[in-house]
Amino acid sequence: MTEKNAHLSQQQKEQMKEHLKRTYGEDAIVSKRALTRRIAGASKARQFSSTALRPTVAAPPLASVGNAVDALPIDLKQPALNETLQEIKKDLGDCTRCKLCKTRTNIVFGEGNEKAKIMFVGEGPGETEDLNARPFVGRAGQLLDKIIEAMGYKREDVYIANVVKCRPPGNRVPEPQEVATCEPFLFRQIDVIKPSVVVALGGTALQSLLHSDAKISKMRGKFVDYRGTKLMPTYHPAFLLRNPSAKKDVWDDMKVVLELLKKESA
Ligand code: SF4
Repeated sequence: MTEKNAHLSQQQKEQMKEHLKRTYGEDAIVSKRALTRRIAGASKARQFSSTALRPTVAAPPLASVGNAVDALPIDLKQPALNETLQEIKKDLGDCTRCKLCKTRTNIVFGEGNEKAKIMFVGEGPGETEDLNARPFVGRAGQLLDKIIEAMGYKREDVYIANVVKCRPPGNRVPEPQEVATCEPFLFRQIDVIKPSVVVALGGTALQSLLHSDAKISKMRGKFVDYRGTKLMPTYHPAFLLRNPSAKKDVWDDMKVVLELLKKESA
């Protein structure tokens, strides 16, 4: 554990150690610097240049998600070691790592094309998703499907996931500790899929992915370099259901995404 954790109680430190062990195995209890060095070595072998991983838009300062996230041994800009989605799912298992396990019906791991060029990430499953064990299948999901189709893709062409994989009761915003516990699995999914673009759907997803208090209204429509790929913040489809006039903004953002993909395939 690092000096950054000096403010934590002994009990909190033990809980954090336990979380790291469960998530990453016994090996996880090493210093953040040592783990970062190890991951950096692996990523070098995969020919990711550190320059390419540097944000083009400066990520806003750490804030709302707090110290629990800061304590994670994951460098936001560094891809992790090679693994498969199946291995990640197996590792997740019948997860009880945070208290959302007590109220969920199903874990919503994420679904779609393992080689997707575009990955959509929301904040967490809603009621319909919880019952079906599938992401974005309620009303907001149907609107997302329309956005995907308008972009010229089918749902099965992209990958869809959430920052937390279990439904927060009453669709409340996931708590920082829940995000901190669950998001390493999402990071691993991103690293496996290596999409050209990760679309962050809504402010909570954006703040969780960037570990910042970034405002979606200010950040939307501009790429941020992220874990070896590009992050495009845009509004959540549920927001569009309440504010249809914002659909134009989302479409503008998706046009920027399509432009990048077009350049890549040229
Ligand atoms: S939200 Fe994530 S960490 Fe929490 S119980 Fe569900 S799968 Fe596990």
